[in-house]
Amino acid sequence: MANQSESSGELAKNVDLVGELTKALEGEQFFLVYQPEIDLHSNAFVGVEALIRWRHPQRGVLSPDAFVPELESSGLIMAVGRWALATACAQGAEWHDKGFRFTVSVNISARQFAWNGFVDEVEEVLTSSRFPSGLLVLEFALRTLSGELTDRLTELTQLGVRLSVDDFEPGPSLLSDIENLPISVVKLDRQFVATLSDSPTGAELVHTLVDWAKKSRLQIVASGIEDAEQRQRLQLEEIGVGQGYLFSRPHEAAEIDRYLEDFSIFSGKPL
Ligand code: C2E
Ligand code: CA
Repeated sequence: MANQSESSGELAKNVDLVGELTKALEGEQFFLVYQPEIDLHSNAFVGVEALIRWRHPQRGVLSPDAFVPELESSGLIMAVGRWALATACAQGAEWHDKGFRFTVSVNISARQFAWNGFVDEVEEVLTSSRFPSGLLVLEFALRTLSGELTDRLTELTQLGVRLSVDDFEPGPSLLSDIENLPISVVKLDRQFVATLSDSPTGAELVHTLVDWAKKSRLQIVASGIEDAEQRQRLQLEEIGVGQGYLFSRPHEAAEIDRYLEDFSIFSGKPL
């Protein structure tokens, strides 16, 4: 009985949350923050990842973990995901018009990718925003990419868009998981980066990945770099690009603008 009332309580909470999320979309309570990606060798500012936030009227600014699962299970991710893609591309076009040449990465959920109209949606957003397709990177979890939808990935690359495998944890089957996919970026998982220094097998796996990436002209981005030692370690492994609190937390576009006015390379001081 206790379980039943607990689960109906949970259900009511979810129904409320879905209602609130619908209102949030209509009421423009979602916004994007952008986290810089830095070339580890030249310190150049080479890209940003767009990350969603919810300015909740009572609870303040909420991180995606508090609401993206609900967006996904309710299907609202289709509308919110489109909004995020369109907003990131419009912002990317603004930076491009100012003369900046860096990529904008957008997270795509499994449900968005599984939709038959997804490729057309990306094309429409690119056309209406005028953001160059070669600067758009779509980030997918590996499990989203496996299976029958490889043709859809190819269609996306035919638009000129670059595809990235998000949160990649090199494992023994690492290359066979991704080698037949038309991807151009592999994003190393934050937890993996955090434990790299303590793990001799982790270093081995990174060597293999880096060798393979060189041959396949694939870029590796290490995420979650928090300290100089981790950065040095990744540089030694010849990882090209990094992202993490060491360089910058995610910020709203206006703040990124202020930074870009002063530096097109990372100054050494976190934003
Ligand atoms: P993710 O794609 O793995 O994004 C990276 C997350 O790591 C972000 O969390 C970022 O703020 C955090 N991060 C970056 N650098 C560091 C660091 O040095 N240390 C630590 N501890 N964390 C760092 P955030 O913004 O809370 O996003 C969480 C997840 O929500 C994202 O994980 C992504 O899967 C999802 N998400 C965010 N925006 C969107 C979106 O527009 N659409 C969809 N479908 N998912 C999104
Ligand atoms: Ca991501």
